[in-house]
Amino acid sequence: MVERRKTYKEKPVMLVALGGNALIRKGQKGSIEEQFRNLRVPLSQVARLSRDYRIILTHGNGPQVGNLLLQQECCDALPRLPLEILVAQTQGQIGYMIESTLDSELMKLGNGTVPYIVTVLTYVVVDENDPAFRNPSKPIGPAFSEEAAARLPYRTVRTEKGYRRVVASPRPVTIVEKREIRRLVELGFLVISCGGGGIPVIRESRTFHGVDAVIDKDLASARLAGEVGVDVFVIATDVPGVALNYGYPDQTFLRSITVEEAVERLKKHEFPDGSMGPKVEAAVQFLEEGGRRAVIASIEEVEEAAAGRAGTEFISGRVRG
Ligand code: ADP
Ligand code: MG
Repeated sequence: MVERRKTYKEKPVMLVALGGNALIRKGQKGSIEEQFRNLRVPLSQVARLSRDYRIILTHGNGPQVGNLLLQQECCDALPRLPLEILVAQTQGQIGYMIESTLDSELMKLGNGTVPYIVTVLTYVVVDENDPAFRNPSKPIGPAFSEEAAARLPYRTVRTEKGYRRVVASPRPVTIVEKREIRRLVELGFLVISCGGGGIPVIRESRTFHGVDAVIDKDLASARLAGEVGVDVFVIATDVPGVALNYGYPDQTFLRSITVEEAVERLKKHEFPDGSMGPKVEAAVQFLEEGGRRAVIASIEEVEEAAAGRAGTEFISGRVRG
């Protein structure tokens, strides 16, 4: 007997956060052709998963926004664009690339109900009193020599590569478009949102204004997942999951970790700030706020992770329904 396909209202909602390597792999220059080709790896899987789940996609924008920042330095004849505008640009460009690739992957699958795809420009509210603003720590964009950096109109820090612009990375407070995104998901749309962690904005009475900051895309994704009421949260990256003793000869990737253990290890700063730390924190936060499943997995194994056969599954201490 042929099993009846679920109507979209019966399907659980899955948020897949795509890491930087969904677009640019290590060692690549990141031409547009390469980025389109790389996207097929996760998106062919997302296309198949969309038969069983309603899907929200989020994504990073590090290299893309870095390139746009570099372009700002290349021409003195035009005004330099602020970071908020560049983040908005990357939401558009990457949204377009994901939409068109996903569309062709869905077409390949043929019959069945194909979800409509939509990219939502996303603002994310941050708190102007967030301590991150007093202590900007996130290096972004190109590296400069010490002399060139001294002439730049913004703060820089010394890094291994040279002097780089440094901005604050405040915590996401709320996703401005959460109601629109929730409604679109209810209507059966596959939504791409929160690109690059979202456009950081500060609320000023009845208006928002953009700020020079970047929000971690995994923390923004967890916020969105909680606010939209997602069932399954998959963080797709360039390693098979969370490892203990990462980078040492005895490194071991975990098939599962309890929220309790993850919190303990976060407290001991076992996972680095700019990479695995926010992912573990995002997974923990999602489950603590009532999410059902959170998995950190490789971009190559999104489907296997969804099936519970790959990645690091976070086990909540709560009684699970
Ligand atoms: P993404 O673009 O997917 O957000 P990141 O580079 O920010 O990717 O984070 C993934 C990286 O985290 C891996 O490539 C790995 O080098 C690093 N990492 C640091 N600590 C760990 C750990 N304990 N387990 C797994 N990966 C780790
Ligand atoms: Mg990252």
